[in-house]
Amino acid sequence: MESFHPPHRVLMGPGPSDVSERVLKALSQQTIGHLDPSFVTLMDQIKSLLQYAFQTKNELTIPVSAPGSAGMETCFMNVVHPGDRVLVCINGVFGMRMQEVAKRAGADVVALEFDWGSPVDPARVEATLASDPAINCIAFVHAETSTGVRSDAKALCKIAREHKCLSIVDAVTSLAGIELRVDEWGIDAIYSGTQKCLSCIPGLAPVSFSERAVARIKERTTPSDSWFLDLNLVMGYWGEGNKRTYHHTAPVNSLYALHEALLIVQEEGLENAWARHQTHHHALAKGLAMLGIELIVDEAHRLPELNTVAIPEGIDDATVRSALLQRFDLEIGAGLGKFAGNAWRIGLMGNGCTRQNVLHCLSALGTVLQEQGYHCDPDSALNAAERAYDTPTSAY
Ligand SMILES: *Cc1c(COP(=O)(O)O)cnc(C)c1O
Repeated sequence: MESFHPPHRVLMGPGPSDVSERVLKALSQQTIGHLDPSFVTLMDQIKSLLQYAFQTKNELTIPVSAPGSAGMETCFMNVVHPGDRVLVCINGVFGMRMQEVAKRAGADVVALEFDWGSPVDPARVEATLASDPAINCIAFVHAETSTGVRSDAKALCKIAREHKCLSIVDAVTSLAGIELRVDEWGIDAIYSGTQKCLSCIPGLAPVSFSERAVARIKERTTPSDSWFLDLNLVMGYWGEGNKRTYHHTAPVNSLYALHEALLIVQEEGLENAWARHQTHHHALAKGLAMLGIELIVDEAHRLPELNTVAIPEGIDDATVRSALLQRFDLEIGAGLGKFAGNAWRIGLMGNGCTRQNVLHCLSALGTVLQEQGYHCDPDSALNAAERAYDTPTSAY
């Protein structure tokens, strides 16, 4: 055996996204103790950078030391008390996971399903809450990565508040990619991941909790069934200044990387990052249309960072994706769940959301499809994308 050297890839799938040199360099610095005073300073800065990314003043805003799915469990295992009646909105794979995790947290789950490729319908959520006053919490996915759909988090959280419910929001793919305002929208518990639009390495889950959510967590009479994710214990570790007590060993180097990735977001400015995703999505969509490839989601609900497209008739999913990877070092995502085999998911996330990637993807995909006997003109697709950059898009 010898040392591992990964191939150079362009990551345009559903995550992880391309990690910048700057973040990789931060990651490779010397490991220090996780209770070292200078590490404590780093933790404080990460908290405040995360507050900016989430647009919140929530004191309990931290990265959980595990991937996005652990962020999901952190929210449910703490906010949901056994026996709570929880409305879970399902319009894709990650809504289904929420349902599963809510059940394991002891919730009495009310599942509300929506068509795949459609957003969560606020009117149906409102009607359900009106007819079932025992529900005290609603959960939904802001950016459903399995379908490429954006749901109206602002409207849904407003309805939740009007019905005295807490809200749990999956923002794994939305954070830093599309508009997200935790305080203004009244979101109570939110989780994300580092490997999507933050373009950090995988393995951390930023979370944030409103005062209402923290009160609910503190009034638990039985401790959470998860020791590792029990926020009443984790809070002591991520608490103020040097009062910190050991809970687990923080992933020190990963947190160097997160700090750098969040700094990059702050330097660009969130609004600019949201607008950039919109701009490149627009160009990609124009190019794909020229290739005769359809986006599955209606324009009004599309995620700019995750483009779900229908695989053309007679084209083999795996053959195309493997040719893209082997010959163009380009990774795009397969369809997930109900979309497996009939859709591709093209990610334009964070550091990977660039003009260069848009053009590389159109050119590689057009070339491979042509070789598979599909009629298209890759050059005109590139021209269409280039022209799209000359027409300004709406801000975000
Ligand atoms: C990727 C993703 C997750 C899971 O994140 P992991 O880091 O893979 O655990 C959860 N929800 C959504 C919407 C995602 O896109």
